[in-house]
Amino acid sequence: MLNFIQGEWRPSTTTDFLPIRNPATGDTIGQTPISTLAELEQAVDAADAAFPAWRRVPVTDRVQFLFRLKTKLEDGLDDLARIITLECGKTLAESRGELRRAIENVEVACGAPILTQGYNSEDIASGIDEVMIRQPLGVCAIIAPFNFPAMIPFWFLPYAIAAGNTIVIKPSERVPMTMQKVFEMLAELELPPGVVNLINGGHDVVNAILDHPTIRAVSFVGSSAVARHVYARAAASGKRVQCQGGAKNPVIILPDADIASAAEIVAESAFGCAGQRCLAAAMAVTVGDAGAPFAEAIQAKAASRVTGDGLEAGVQMGPVISPESQARIEQLLERAIADGARPIVDGRRPAMPDRLRGNFIRPTVLSGLPIESEITRTEIFGPVLSLHEVDDISAAIALVNDGAYGNQASLFTTSGASARRFRYEAEVGNVGINVGVAAPMAFFPFSGARGSFFGDLHGQGRDAFEFFTQEKVVVERWPRAWSRTF
Ligand code: NAD
Repeated sequence: MLNFIQGEWRPSTTTDFLPIRNPATGDTIGQTPISTLAELEQAVDAADAAFPAWRRVPVTDRVQFLFRLKTKLEDGLDDLARIITLECGKTLAESRGELRRAIENVEVACGAPILTQGYNSEDIASGIDEVMIRQPLGVCAIIAPFNFPAMIPFWFLPYAIAAGNTIVIKPSERVPMTMQKVFEMLAELELPPGVVNLINGGHDVVNAILDHPTIRAVSFVGSSAVARHVYARAAASGKRVQCQGGAKNPVIILPDADIASAAEIVAESAFGCAGQRCLAAAMAVTVGDAGAPFAEAIQAKAASRVTGDGLEAGVQMGPVISPESQARIEQLLERAIADGARPIVDGRRPAMPDRLRGNFIRPTVLSGLPIESEITRTEIFGPVLSLHEVDDISAAIALVNDGAYGNQASLFTTSGASARRFRYEAEVGNVGINVGVAAPMAFFPFSGARGSFFGDLHGQGRDAFEFFTQEKVVVERWPRAWSRTF
């Protein structure tokens, strides 16, 4: 993998590389350079040098690059989807879905001419006007996780540059190939050199970004422990920061829900992308009589899900990202069982064809995991769903609000009153009503709350434009302008 700095591809001078492995086969398919801090310095210098001219490019001209990028992403969609599946393991359909979300963000960012407008008031006092204008910040950094190698950088990238900023992106060292391909497309747009820069690397590069005096803003997505660290350290050096963290998402099934369709939707949420989605259902909480029929239906859905190489037709679930991740999930399952859980569908160490020496766990459903178990508060980030039973919706909502995270909660019901109460009381950023993955469209903020989000403005839509601009207020008076005789 190469870095992209100052409009050109540059090999890293590092001697430290991480192998990139196909999660399905275990084959090594490339290596990630752990770039040096001097190379980060070059990327930041390039972005800083490009900023004064880029901010002066009219916004109507800046978005022309995004229109062209959309065409390139559409034309290259199948190639990119294949790369995502190769390095990340999800199915081709899931990779295509992720790319559609990325493209949608480019489309929304093309609204920059309106979405970066300020507002004004005439005659706040006689002959005095007040104007709020939005100006770009300067150099902005984006730090991404492994699970959506294309989509997540696009929650930020198109908005940042449309608003007149320049950027440095550090993709996850585990899945650098997708951004490499995206940057090939960006390179063909002939953006002024330095407007977009790509630096491959690890934790040291992240920490150097957080401390860098030139970088004005940091957008981070990843686990909560790292999100907290990034939020605190970047804020300590005076930056604007938005940090999306981890999740442990509950879904509640009321007795009046359509149980068959709820089970189908929850199975897709829990096991899609092998459970490695920040909006994946992790706990199904049934109320009253919903317990037994839901358990039976979800068990069938979990047991029948076709698991294999995401490149193959008919496969519904791929592997998890790495052998370390597989081992971590298996250990968490052992701890859950030690705490009293029973795997009613047990996906550990499945038999796979010889060719597939990767990191496979089939869908797993746990019943009887005590609510007090530490595992109910721990993000597993694998294809595991635990079942819990409560007596009424009040107890279910209390359980949602007691959780350590606050990314998403869903309710399955046919009652409008219950749905409204849930929407009102659930302390999470994203709410689903009869929806298992309540992923906000690009023209809404990708929300998150409590232990899942640190900051105030989110990625996507209006929030992104607010994040990537500085509000400046001008109060102006022109001598003689208030005289009606002038
Ligand atoms: P991660 O936290 O391990 O890594 C994210 C980024 O931080 C990577 O670029 C990595 O290089 C860097 N990093 C990791 N540890 C670091 C450290 N100690 N110091 C400095 N930098 C460090 O996350 P991941 O495993 O790549 O992604 C999965 C996590 O992301 C899950 O917790 C998932 O819930 C979360 N996620 C959240 C959202 C959301 O919108 N809330 C979306 C996607 C993923």
